Amino acid sequence: ADKPLKDDVKKLQQDCEPCNSLSASLNRYMNNGLGQEEYAQHDLFHALASSVKELMLDNWRQTRAKDSQYQTKQVAYLSLEFLMGRALGNALLNLQLTDESREALSQYAVDLESLESLEHDAGLGNGGLGRLAACFLDSCASLDIAVTGYGIRYEYGMFAQRIVDGYQIEGPDRWLKDGNPWEVRVPNHNVTVPFFGHTESYIDKLGRRHVTWVDTQDVQAVAYDMPIPGYRNSRINTLRLWKSEATDDFDLAEFNQGDYTEAVARKNLAEQITMVLYPNDASENGKELRLRQQYFLSSASLQDLLNNWIKKNGIDFSDFAKANVMQLNDTHPSVAVPELMRLLVDNYALEWEQAWDITTNIMAYTNHTLLPEALERWPVRMFEQMLPRILEIIYEINARYLDDVAHHWPGDADMLAKMSIIEEGCEPHVRMAYLAIVASFSVNGVAGLHTQLLTSGLFKHFYELWPEKFNNKTNGVTPRRWLAHCNPRLAALLTKRLGCQWVGDLQHLQALSAFTEDKALIDEWREVKLANKRELSLMIAKECGVEFEPEMMFDVQVKRIHEYKRQLLNILHVIHLYHEILTAISDNRLDKLVPRCVLIGGKAAPGYAMAKLLIKLANNVAHMVNSDPQITPYLRFAFLPNYNVSAMEKICPATDLSQQISTAGKEASGTGNMKFMMNGALTIGTLDGANIEMLEEVGEDNFFLFGLNASQVHSLQDNYQPEHFINQSPALKQVMKLLQSGHFNLLEPGIFDPVIESIKSPTDPWMTAADFESYRQAQQRAASAYQDPDSWTQMSIRNTACSGRFSSDVTIAAYRDEIWKA
Ligand code: PLP
Repeated sequence: ADKPLKDDVKKLQQDCEPCNSLSASLNRYMNNGLGQEEYAQHDLFHALASSVKELMLDNWRQTRAKDSQYQTKQVAYLSLEFLMGRALGNALLNLQLTDESREALSQYAVDLESLESLEHDAGLGNGGLGRLAACFLDSCASLDIAVTGYGIRYEYGMFAQRIVDGYQIEGPDRWLKDGNPWEVRVPNHNVTVPFFGHTESYIDKLGRRHVTWVDTQDVQAVAYDMPIPGYRNSRINTLRLWKSEATDDFDLAEFNQGDYTEAVARKNLAEQITMVLYPNDASENGKELRLRQQYFLSSASLQDLLNNWIKKNGIDFSDFAKANVMQLNDTHPSVAVPELMRLLVDNYALEWEQAWDITTNIMAYTNHTLLPEALERWPVRMFEQMLPRILEIIYEINARYLDDVAHHWPGDADMLAKMSIIEEGCEPHVRMAYLAIVASFSVNGVAGLHTQLLTSGLFKHFYELWPEKFNNKTNGVTPRRWLAHCNPRLAALLTKRLGCQWVGDLQHLQALSAFTEDKALIDEWREVKLANKRELSLMIAKECGVEFEPEMMFDVQVKRIHEYKRQLLNILHVIHLYHEILTAISDNRLDKLVPRCVLIGGKAAPGYAMAKLLIKLANNVAHMVNSDPQITPYLRFAFLPNYNVSAMEKICPATDLSQQISTAGKEASGTGNMKFMMNGALTIGTLDGANIEMLEEVGEDNFFLFGLNASQVHSLQDNYQPEHFINQSPALKQVMKLLQSGHFNLLEPGIFDPVIESIKSPTDPWMTAADFESYRQAQQRAASAYQDPDSWTQMSIRNTACSGRFSSDVTIAAYRDEIWKA
């Protein structure tokens, strides 16, 4: 009898529900936003994401107001890459809306996880450098620092990788094809970026020389903002991504001359600038369009900073450098240096000295690599045509700076040539790293060893000239995405044991060390890992058609495919295990074998032939391993296609053994290594990058260390004899024999010859042969350790417990205190 009454009350409650609740907002989007009754799951995702964004709008506005009101020092983080991945799960976690969104979704009979999986990864980056930028944004917002990320809104992100007959096939990544619910187009921030044309100068009545850049082809930069919510605070920072569009004037002029098709073609040219992300990690390809992207980002972002300043302060720039700092993520945006000079001197009539004073108090540069092929050099000729005014300014900066060099090393002409921003030769080049160092008040490396190698090697003379500029900031990763969000089972266990503070301050994990003997924790920890491994197995079965057995050891190497990262060493080891199993079968010694599943994943730059060949080799070896029923009880091997951020979120919680096996001195830091450690994987690794600091934290008993160190690699270089190492290791000799026999490429004879030759070459910079035996022994230690599940789990707990130092919160606190002074 009281049913109608109940319904009334329910209706009343619904009507009274605050309109800012997630549920109300979601229903509104579903009822009104779609314009039709039927909907697909993807519509539901869009409605939820839009609702979450809507809930952020107030705080987003207030964050901007607060930062502007209190004259907070503004940090601009300039990066050609932001490898953001998916945003929904992370936003819900930071805003504490996960439970509420589950509840809101219950009426649609959909679970949150399957909805989350519908979001396209924002793959606006290649690997470590771009993912670092994304982790930094999360930490900056969570530490309540006013930081704006500036990047490019590429229409096509990192290419999609498929494997066909073992070969990598690249496909387009149209991540925006279903729309992007997170972004807001903000046309009131549009700015114009000039290209081409030429310069003219004149002397004014006071005898001062002025330069104008004329007849330029202008491109419009349109801002798209993405909200970056802090963890459990009300800060919403901004990632501003620029899209290039044709300017209206330019179209109209051509149109009026009746040349419509030409006008449209030019429009396409302008829009090409932000069309595609260059898929090169740790190497440059010198394409003109890439330099255009760099200048486009730098100019648009600087104009934005100046416009913001002028709105509040007019054109008095005397305190501009006190209120702004610009962190350059590698040299990619380093053309910002001459661009800021141009804007201040040409557009706002500052004296050179004053403009230089401002520029050198604003710019800070992060170096990410020691590899010579990754150091950017642009042909002077390219600047001359595309950015003529910028080239003049670079020349002026160089002339003044070389005076300082001459002062420091009087009479040393060699030193002048060595340190000049312009590299002379039949094709002169601009050395972008030198330009960045000369203009920056801070130059940092990204791990202890890397910084040390920078100051003693690559940038030695700059360090002699300006030791105070150089500092180290070891990379980190955000514990929100890389533990709390991606590993909910472990997160729940940690929270049960330690409370939830670890999410905001990862050093709290140290308290776990006290429980490593606690049998209940050990058992629960193992259960968590096993459940995560079951989940990953489903993904591997679906993506690779290979069954991974959760009880076997999961041995994983996922990262970009590059010779210096030495996926080859890993593959050679798999071949060795394969051969060991075959011999053990014939000798009836099977009880000694420790079953393992090996996973490799990663993309090769489309133009990097050797890296692509390594993918083919991995796939061919995997095929031999997985199709032999004698082998598969002990060894399975899969190559996961299309490795990206979302895949890593499933992989790192399920890994037992993380492979970080680069040639010592070549990996600047690594960040994948930290994600695995945080999630309780043990590392097999060399003394390279941040591995060294991880080892310091966790101790040699909880880390499988092997290989030459950086100085041994360096000393061996001049007299490297790989044959010697091959002859000394019966295991490697056997592996080489199998490879050379064509066992893994019977139908395609000779295809792996370049790989074989590289191992045997005395000029092999990666020294694969030299490290093989030591690597094999470390792998053997890992295998026998895995046979004692309790002790393995204790080591796993210790790894997580000691990972606090690798939270990007720690890294960002150091940037804030020691560089930005924000
Ligand atoms: N690519 C993706 C998708 C990542 O998530 C990461 C870091 O975890 C990297 C590349 C960088 O990996 P690494 O530091 O192992 O090179």
